[in-house]
Amino acid sequence: MGFFSKSSDKNNDSDQDKWKDKYLNLLDAQDQTEKAFKVEQELLCKTVVRLSFAASGVDPQLEPYLERIRSHIKNGVDSTKLKTELEKFTDALSRLKSASASNHQEQGSDVSLLFDFLLQHYTSDKQQQNLNLLKKSCQPLDDPKRLFSAIAKIIDAEEARPVDNEPDELANEENQAYQNLIDPVFVSAQLVQLFEHIEIPEASTQKAQIIKQQLTSQGATLSFESTMDNVISLLIEINANNQPKQQDIDKFLNHISDQLTALGLAVTDSGIALMDASFSRSKLDQSVSDQMNDLQNRSSSATQLEPLKQAITSHISQITKEIQEHKQKEAVQREKYQCQLEELSQKIKTMESETGELQSKLIVANTNALRDTLTDLPNRLAYEERLKMEISRWQRYHTPLCLVVWDVDYFKKVNDQYGHQVGDKVLVHVASQFTKYIRRADFVARFGGEEFVMLLPHTNKHSAIKVAEKLRSLIEQSELTTNDTTLSVTISCGITQLFKGDTHETAFERADQALYRAKELGRNQCCIL
Ligand code: GH3
Ligand code: MG
Ligand code: MG
Repeated sequence: MGFFSKSSDKNNDSDQDKWKDKYLNLLDAQDQTEKAFKVEQELLCKTVVRLSFAASGVDPQLEPYLERIRSHIKNGVDSTKLKTELEKFTDALSRLKSASASNHQEQGSDVSLLFDFLLQHYTSDKQQQNLNLLKKSCQPLDDPKRLFSAIAKIIDAEEARPVDNEPDELANEENQAYQNLIDPVFVSAQLVQLFEHIEIPEASTQKAQIIKQQLTSQGATLSFESTMDNVISLLIEINANNQPKQQDIDKFLNHISDQLTALGLAVTDSGIALMDASFSRSKLDQSVSDQMNDLQNRSSSATQLEPLKQAITSHISQITKEIQEHKQKEAVQREKYQCQLEELSQKIKTMESETGELQSKLIVANTNALRDTLTDLPNRLAYEERLKMEISRWQRYHTPLCLVVWDVDYFKKVNDQYGHQVGDKVLVHVASQFTKYIRRADFVARFGGEEFVMLLPHTNKHSAIKVAEKLRSLIEQSELTTNDTTLSVTISCGITQLFKGDTHETAFERADQALYRAKELGRNQCCIL
C-alpha cells in the first residue's frame, strides 16, 4: 500500500486509480469465483454423500470405501484425498461389476437382484423382515417353485402394496441411484428361468404367457416396474390356486392311505404257514414300508396334486406288483409243500401198513414161539414164563398154587404098536381133553415129548388131587379111534403145592418125584408130594 501513497502527480494518480480499480475488480472476481466454487463444492459433496448413501447395501465390499468418502467430506474437503478415495471407489465398483457379470453367467439362478428389487418395492417392516429372511434362506436358489410360493405369501400378507409416502428428495435420488444398479435384463432372464420351473395352473397359463413375453421382449411396451408388478400378482394368483389343491391332496392321500391299509390287511389275512414264508413276508413288508415312507415324504412336501398322484400311482402299482409276485411265489411254494406233504403222507401210510404186517408177523412169531405146533398148547417156554408170573403172584398174595406134571403111560409102546402118527394123535387127544376140562384160571402146557405140566392157582393140594383125578379118569375112559383102531391110554401125574421158600426148580423137582412115585406104584394114578 505504501507504494501508492508515495506517488502524488496527476498522471501517477490516474495510473494508480486504474491499477486500484483493476485490483479491486480482480478481488471481486476472485470473491465471485470462490463463492461459485464453494457452491459447487457443497453441491458436489452433497451429491457424493447422497450417492454414497444410495450405494450403501448394494454390496458389503463397497461399504468401507463409502464410509471413508463420507468421513472425508464430514472432516473438511481435501480435494486431493477425496479424489483419491473416489478413484478407489470407482475401481472397486468396476471390479464388483465385472465379478458380478461373470457371476451372472456362472450362476444363472442367483436371486439376490430379484430380492433387491422386491425389497425396494415392498417396504413395510414385516415384508422387509420376511423378504430378508427368505433371501438369506434361499441362496443359492435350489427350489424355484417354493421360492415363488414363499414370495407370493409374503407379499400377499399385506393386502395392498404400501403406498410410498411422498418420498423426500434425498430418498428419491437414492432410489433412483439404487435402481440404476438393478439390471432389468438380468432380472427378467432370471424370472423367465424361474417360470420354466414353476407349475402354472391352467387358469393362469395365458397370463403367465403374456408376462413371459413381456419379460423376454426387448422393446417392451410396459415398464420394467409394471412387468414386475404383473409377475408378483401372478405369483399371488398361483399361490391362491394352490390352497384348495392342498385340500385335494389331503383328501387323495387319505383315500390312498385307506387303500394301502386295506391292501396291508389283505396281505396279512392271506398268511400261509410255510416254513420260509416269514422271511419272504418280512422282505415284502420292508419293501411296502419303504414305499410308504417315500410317499409320506413326498406328500409332506408336495404342493401340486398331479405329480403326487403320479408318484402314488407308481408306488401303488409297484406294491401291487410285489404282492402279486409274493402271492405267486407263495402259491408255487404251497403247491410244492402240498406235493411233499402228500408224498410224506403216502410214505407214512406205507410204513403204517408195513408196521402192521410186521406186528402181525411178530405176534404170530411170538405165538408160534410160545406154542406147541402139534397140540396147539403153550410150549415149555410159555410155561416157564407163566410159572414165573404165578410164583410172583403167589408170593405176593399168599394164595395156594399147585404144580402138576403129567406123563403118558407106556407111550413108547403106542408108538411102537400103532406108529408115530398115532402116537401124535394120542398126544393131541390128551391135550384137547385137558383144555376142555380145566378152569379158565388154570394153565396147561406141553412140557416136551409125552409130558404135560399144569399150574393151578388158588388151588390147594386137596383140590389139586381132585382136579387131577378127574382128568386122569377122563383120559382113562376116553377112547381114541384111528385107522379102524380104537385105543385108550392112561396118564399119571405128580402133584405138589408150593410152600414158603420154594423156587420153580424146587417145586418142579418135587412134582417130578411125585410122578416118579406114581409110575412106580403102577401108573394111571396121581401122587402128591
Ligand atoms: P412110561 O410109562 O414109563 O412113561 O413109559 P413110556 O414108554 O411112556 O416112557 P419112555 O420115556 O420110555 O418113552 C417115551 C416115548 O415117547 C419115547 C419117544 O419116542 C416118544 N415120543 C416123544 N415125543 C413124541 C412125539 O412127539 N410123538 C410121538 N409119536 N412120540 C413121541
Ligand atoms: Mg415120559
Ligand atoms: Mg411116559
